Amino acid sequence: MSTGIRVRFAPSPTGQLHVGNARTALFNWLLARAEGGTFVLRIEDTDFERSTKDAERTAIDDLRWLGLTWDEGAEVGGPYGPYRQSERLHVYRAHAVELMSKGQAYHCFCSEEDLERERYEALRSGMPPKYGGRCRGLSKEDAHRRLQNGETAVLRFRVPEEPRDIGWEDVVRGPVSFRSDVIGDFVLLRSDGVPAYNFAVVIDDALMAITHVVRGEDHISNTPRQVLLYEAFGWRPPTFAHVSMVLGPDHSKLSKRHGATSVSEFRETGILPEALANYLALLGWSPGDNEELFPLDELARRFRLADVGKSAGVFDPDKLAWVNRHYLKLAPADRLARLSAPFIEAAGWGQAQGEAATRWLEDLVAAAARGDDNADSRWSGKCVECWATPIIRHAKVAVHFIGVRFSPRRFVRGRER
Ligand code: GLU
Repeated sequence: MSTGIRVRFAPSPTGQLHVGNARTALFNWLLARAEGGTFVLRIEDTDFERSTKDAERTAIDDLRWLGLTWDEGAEVGGPYGPYRQSERLHVYRAHAVELMSKGQAYHCFCSEEDLERERYEALRSGMPPKYGGRCRGLSKEDAHRRLQNGETAVLRFRVPEEPRDIGWEDVVRGPVSFRSDVIGDFVLLRSDGVPAYNFAVVIDDALMAITHVVRGEDHISNTPRQVLLYEAFGWRPPTFAHVSMVLGPDHSKLSKRHGATSVSEFRETGILPEALANYLALLGWSPGDNEELFPLDELARRFRLADVGKSAGVFDPDKLAWVNRHYLKLAPADRLARLSAPFIEAAGWGQAQGEAATRWLEDLVAAAARGDDNADSRWSGKCVECWATPIIRHAKVAVHFIGVRFSPRRFVRGRER
């Protein structure tokens, strides 16, 4: 039965799906499944220069590969669509007109150079950079005349003048608040009419009836702007939960220089989807006892947003490999053989043809997944002569998939003896 909880994952398809974002998706999905709610996938593709269809495809494939399904959104549709921001531009424009008519938005004609100079001056005098409000006092008539004359303008939100605290009770971080006077009048629509993130996200979350926004803490400084927009429209803000970043072993944000960072990369090195999902869930969430190994359905049964901690999750590839080995041992040999085949093929061995080859591969991966270093002694006769040599040659690749406990060197030495 569906409860009122509605959550969303809103990727910007500008590159590979980072494991930090995959974890955000997973937490949202777990919350929806744990509470009998609805999980929405919304594609935030209004950065037309950086968004690509390929990146959207990859994100969708990666989420499905992890085992996540969405009740509404891209590719599945639903009552609050369209679910791609590029198809909702008319919705943002209509809401911009509403704010303008209430005097809560205005056209700004400042050039990039003016704004850059302003930012520079602010930083030089030790102030946080914010828009100084030069166009705030322009009359509607003046703005209209300048637009008619062909000048370009962005649309800015008029932050209420009276300084005050803008706060919310964050499920993960507790009470959070910002002073409104550090927030300059921010951009709602760019000069080409495309919405800025803060504007589009509020319109969409409100119109899609999102009840809980679970996202990375890198968005905390956006949230007060979003709260102001909810107030301007007279909408109730959702419950916010800002989860800590996923960090590399040196405690800086997990990035390329730490090694693999995207779901696709882990998938390509032979991590099983259930292992990655299980491991990512443990980065920030704890079930409260010492157990750590849970398949997706069990995670969904146990997950509570209140059990997500504030401390950053440090990505530990060794622990991921350990979780992976656990699932490799549980996986049926035919599944592992099937999953290994592309690795063997990519190494130039060719297709695993014939029943004997498939069985051999099944035996190999099953033994290797068990960490059975003497696996080779179990094969003899023709079959080994036919298949062992190329497999051994490319065992390194297969081993990458199979896990670290299988040692190709011992395997090869064993055969040579
Ligand atoms: N498209 C934004 C991102 O990928 C979504 C942020 C949010 O969840 O509000 O960071």
